Amino acid sequence: LKRTGPAERAAVVDLAAIRHNVAALRSWVQPAALMAVVKADGYGHGAVPVARAALDAGATWLGLAHVSEALVLREAGISAPMLAWLHTRDTPFGRAVEENIDLGASGWELEPIAAAAQRLERPARVHLKIDTGLGRNGCTLEDWPQVVERAAALQEAGLIRVVGIFSHLAVADEEEREAETDDQLRLFHGAVETAREAGLRPDVRHIANTPGILDRPDTHLDLVRAGLGIYGLTPFPDRPASEFGLRPAMSVTTTVAQNKAVGPGHGVSYGYRYRTTAATRLALIPLGYGDGVPRPALEAPVSIGGQRYAVAGRIAMDQFVVDLGTEDPAVAPVGAAVELFGPKSGITADEWASAAGTINYELVTRIGSRVPRIHV
Ligand code: PLP
Repeated sequence: LKRTGPAERAAVVDLAAIRHNVAALRSWVQPAALMAVVKADGYGHGAVPVARAALDAGATWLGLAHVSEALVLREAGISAPMLAWLHTRDTPFGRAVEENIDLGASGWELEPIAAAAQRLERPARVHLKIDTGLGRNGCTLEDWPQVVERAAALQEAGLIRVVGIFSHLAVADEEEREAETDDQLRLFHGAVETAREAGLRPDVRHIANTPGILDRPDTHLDLVRAGLGIYGLTPFPDRPASEFGLRPAMSVTTTVAQNKAVGPGHGVSYGYRYRTTAATRLALIPLGYGDGVPRPALEAPVSIGGQRYAVAGRIAMDQFVVDLGTEDPAVAPVGAAVELFGPKSGITADEWASAAGTINYELVTRIGSRVPRIHV
């Protein structure tokens, strides 16, 4: 969205917080290296500025789901090692090889990757992915021996170089489920051994996401893939970011768009899910589900002029309402500063996520393209 003046609505992203979080996680995991996961436009924070800040602060890799996302970073002039791990038959593998983007592969991808490498007369850099229990992408344990044999043959032919082996954790954010993470780790080490027996010598083994980084040092291995934590959020409902010395980077802000007096019993927004109980004033906040503010978040907290209120009634596409609980027109006048969540108000993305029945990952990632990102 083109901005022609001051932002009416903004997701303000504090790049100093990103740098702080990356440095904190990096010192936590060393000697392992850190891959900053900046897929989905940097979890909604802006992939290019976040990637630059993360690299400044000691990240040495960038992680993306799609090759198309990695190409955006290359086009922005970012030359750091990058891995993209989720592909379809239409993925531009050739562009990835040309741009030196590492490719995750679970099995079938090896053939189109090798074909692209042959065409370009340049070996493709591959990380083989084993499914140790998440049940999403990744090679099954049953197919693994054939996949590593095929990869070893393609490496022997000079078409690929297997630089990594990786997997993804399923339950490391649930503290009572240590045994399942133990199982994943054991299967992962076994899979690496099978690959070694086939002659593969990967530079990096990686399995840890933010829950693994924060709670399971035995998952750090050679490289960790840090998403949520670099944005200053944690996956643990009862353990805030501050417990780990992390700083939330995103604030969602706007200003009051209208302030009006209403009587008692006034129905508010579609369906009248809220009715005033006394004469009061209502403040109108110009953000809605068209901006990624989740419609189910009834009663989520909002800060206006530094004071905490709650959403009243349904969140609509462009706007929602706050009952100010006073007849004083000087409270929250038109133009007063509003923060949905952010360090200034102390309201967390976790509180909004919990009001909406979702997780902080989804909340920040879905803040919409109609809300300009302002990097400070
Ligand atoms: N690795 C992979 C394969 C992922 O899909 C993700 C994100 O979902 C991550 C790492 C980062 O996870 P987190 O945000 O928990 O650090």
